[in-house]
Amino acid sequence: MEQALGTLVFYSDFDDFDTWKNALQMHLPGLKVVHASAIDRPEDVHYALVWKPPEGFFQRMPNLRLIINLGAGVDSLVARQDLPKDIPITRITDPNMARMMAGYVLFAVLRHAREIPFFEAAQRRGAWAYRHPRSPEDITVAVLGLGQLGATAAHELQRQGFRTLGWSRSPARIEGVECFAGMEALDGVLGQADIVVLMLPLTPLTKHLFDRQRLAKMRPGAAFVNVARGALVDQAALTDLLRSGHIGAATLDVFEREPLAPGDPLWNMPQVLITPHLASVAIPSTSARQIAENIERIASGQAPAHTIEPARGY
Ligand code: NDP
Repeated sequence: MEQALGTLVFYSDFDDFDTWKNALQMHLPGLKVVHASAIDRPEDVHYALVWKPPEGFFQRMPNLRLIINLGAGVDSLVARQDLPKDIPITRITDPNMARMMAGYVLFAVLRHAREIPFFEAAQRRGAWAYRHPRSPEDITVAVLGLGQLGATAAHELQRQGFRTLGWSRSPARIEGVECFAGMEALDGVLGQADIVVLMLPLTPLTKHLFDRQRLAKMRPGAAFVNVARGALVDQAALTDLLRSGHIGAATLDVFEREPLAPGDPLWNMPQVLITPHLASVAIPSTSARQIAENIERIASGQAPAHTIEPARGY
């Protein structure tokens, strides 16, 4: 069994090798799982489970059959110059990861919709500052990007009663969500939303899609939530528009440069909530099944599921 499956090499900046190894071997006891720092026979490596490996990483492994991105966003992987050609690339597409993301988005949207920062500030002043809540159906939320994570978040938002708009490249259908597609629809969607949630992958087409001009198309005072990638947005323009009040508030989990620089003006804006890129993470206990299924498919000569298209960028 071990020989038939070969070896999986693991690389990640996080200290989670043993957790992944145990989770994978629960499903595939015959799979040899080695950390990249301990490969003795690179020619036996058939599978690479990686998050941001160093330059030249794959060149040592002539018999690689599958690259598995240890996360949902593949932008840093597909941008590499040293990717081996014609090796399929998959990513983590785990329903539990989508649920974790939907939980974060729901929290961020409810926080803006229920004006929680206003009440937190009032509490600090010891003030009983009543503001009548708005009904969720009077609040429009736009979810930009309706992939595995975006669609789950949009579904949760409409379940809470928000008027939910969705936007993607090709037409999508999600019950209870008004779906729009294509560049020509984007500004119209932005102009209707009280809360905008970015859930797009970072690709050549989406990089800086939210520049100064486009951000200015948002409704005055609307809130902005970015849980996707910082480089989708011109961060200097976002900062200016927050300062001017055109964008009323923001919840930011991702930034053009991470970690966000210590002196960045965003840190000190009371209308901005900053979290350090953790809206959702790959969960070994549940993602391992999907990875194991793909390894079994490769080992039996089938094509893997959930592959990405490097040329498209996601
Ligand atoms: P998917 O790849 O499943 O879906 C991408 C969605 O974006 C699709 O609806 C796609 O449209 C749409 N899209 C892509 N390009 C364009 C475009 N040019 N114009 C309009 N729509 C476009 O992504 P996921 O939902 O799995 O994840 C989204 C992103 O979330 C990831 O790429 C990653 O960067 C980020 N992420 C952030 C995390 C965090 O902790 N902050 C954790 C995990 C992921 P179509 O359906 O037509 O292809």
